[in-house]
Amino acid sequence: MNSNYFDNENRLIPHGVMFHHFHHEGDRPYAQGSITSEQFQKIIEFIGPKNILPANTWLEKAINKELREKEICITLDDSLKCQMEIAYPVLQKFGISAFWFVFSSVFKGQANRLEIYRYFYNIYFPNFDEFYEVFKKYFLMSSINYLYDDNINLFLKSDYLKEFVHYSEKEREYRFYRDKILNRKEFENLMDGILDDYGVDINTIAKDLWMNDHDLRKLSSNDHIIGLHSFSHPTNIAQLDINKQQQEYMKNKEHILSVTSKEPITVSHPCCSYNNSTLEILDHLGIKIGFRSNFQKPNHSLMEFPRVDHSHLLLELN
Ligand SMILES: [Zn+2]
Repeated sequence: MNSNYFDNENRLIPHGVMFHHFHHEGDRPYAQGSITSEQFQKIIEFIGPKNILPANTWLEKAINKELREKEICITLDDSLKCQMEIAYPVLQKFGISAFWFVFSSVFKGQANRLEIYRYFYNIYFPNFDEFYEVFKKYFLMSSINYLYDDNINLFLKSDYLKEFVHYSEKEREYRFYRDKILNRKEFENLMDGILDDYGVDINTIAKDLWMNDHDLRKLSSNDHIIGLHSFSHPTNIAQLDINKQQQEYMKNKEHILSVTSKEPITVSHPCCSYNNSTLEILDHLGIKIGFRSNFQKPNHSLMEFPRVDHSHLLLELN
């Protein structure tokens, strides 16, 4: 392999590498971009373990503005059980501690529908585009079907989520409507209608998807860092009023503090969504550093460190 992870000038900038889904070898991945234990190891070796700082060291250097070129950290978003089962043992083997950005509602028995939907379309359809045909059909048959036509040109002209190289055009379109056009209720009504018609039970799927408090304590006591990722993982938190944003992060902080007995001081912005009010709220909650999910903001603040999605690294490996 001749290519060097740091060939791209961007990547000299200190940043996080972002991970979400993992699956066991031979199992069907329930998310696009999902990787196995072996692929995770290969990615770590590709970056070079010496370039990956322990989470606490990276954090301290970030706060003190002492991070140097090529200093990387590993981050895992969304409180997923598969991270604990597959990524955690690999990190322990390499002696690498990471940032884990958890949203709290799923620890309180409130299933996160987005994750359930993801599971549904990956398991019930041969590929994303076939699912999207069904979604679009339900959308166009609904009482809000005008929102499709009204906004399709806006999407076609946008670069929405093009940085996620593993998303197909249809998946970007789906996420555009989900995150930018429909409100949560409109989107969930559409999806719940589809799940109903396919005879899918949300609670059965929800059982095995997320970590529990015991997992968080285990991570925290092994020098991993638990950070904020909101309470219920809105896809567009910047659109919420200030009180709702504050509730999202306060409840998230209370949960993490009560379980780990450590004040969280880091955040990753869910779906990279935030505005000035969000940053003020986070500042008041004592948050010192934050992460975006891309490199699209040069000269960033401490609350906006860049991250690269692991799928970019996987491409270079192949
Ligand atoms: Zn997330």
